[in-house]
Amino acid sequence: MKLFLVIPCYNEEAVLPETSKRLKVKMSELQKKGMISKNSRVIFVDDGSKDKTWDLITALHQEDPLFWGVKLSRNRGHQNALLAGLSAAMDKADAVISMDADLQDDINAIDAFIEKYNAGAEVVYGVRSSRKKDSFFKKNTALAFYRLMSKLGADVVYNHADYRLLSNRALHSLFEFKEVNLFLRGIVPMIGYKTDVVYYERAERFAGESKYPLKKMLAFAFEGITSLSIRPIRMIITLGIVMLFVSIAMVIYFLVRHFIGYTVPGWTSLIVSIWAIGALQLISTGVIGEYIGKVYLETKERPRFIIETFMGDETSDENSNRS
Ligand code: UDP
Ligand code: MG
Repeated sequence: MKLFLVIPCYNEEAVLPETSKRLKVKMSELQKKGMISKNSRVIFVDDGSKDKTWDLITALHQEDPLFWGVKLSRNRGHQNALLAGLSAAMDKADAVISMDADLQDDINAIDAFIEKYNAGAEVVYGVRSSRKKDSFFKKNTALAFYRLMSKLGADVVYNHADYRLLSNRALHSLFEFKEVNLFLRGIVPMIGYKTDVVYYERAERFAGESKYPLKKMLAFAFEGITSLSIRPIRMIITLGIVMLFVSIAMVIYFLVRHFIGYTVPGWTSLIVSIWAIGALQLISTGVIGEYIGKVYLETKERPRFIIETFMGDETSDENSNRS
């Protein structure tokens, strides 16, 4: 099996020497066990780093054909860097595993990934078995992230980041999704096929610092939701309908007060209109939003289906003799 590893790197000069060393050992170990073929490769994608990352990748490539390099013209963010690496591997590999440059994802899980692939899985998710080593803050913000995502209609695999195996076929299907705002964690589950999960222990970053501070993480979550689902728009209509019921209750309440004579003249009509018009406006916005949501989904040109297997017979290839 020809395996490619795809690793996005942004200002990773602190970790690359060690990462490449460990990966080289791992890859030759896998080769010796006969799990992967000799022409398996590791692709480092330099996501417009400002430090010596690209020089290091160049040196690695010259030393050893195991390492390939892809350099982006500027920093485009982890997801796009990953995508660039995947597209470089697409027509070459039988399967691709994506992982981070800091090797927080346990590389010894690769064996399990390959086993699942050999057992027929086309998509294998690496799932963190625990978050013991994460800080309290990171653990809880991450948890909130997954909860919020699924509430807002972006279905992501719990505790799965971007450590995953994609078969060649799954990879080709992924590129059928033409949307520019591609949120991989949300799109990959949409591909389908046989999927499986590998559990692993996530380690601490061994050098350098995280490129994902809270600000980037929030932006990432927002990206994920707005690029995957139109549920936030639907919430407007729901809110409008709730407001409508509130306003009906209010009308009754204010009219009762009006007729008991327990009110200031003019106030009833004023307050009732405010509630009713508010509800009306929210519902109208929601309806418009519903259409915008449709337009939005249409522009994405997502594949309507992906065929996994086709069963037919040869004879139907002959031309029919209608004259
Ligand atoms: N990364 C990238 N471009 C960016 C930010 C990060 O390619 O703009 C890469 C980074 O080099 C690493 C991976 O994405 O390989 C994950 O980043 P990091 O380890 O800093 O995130 P954390 O593990 O702290 O969430
Ligand atoms: Mg990391």
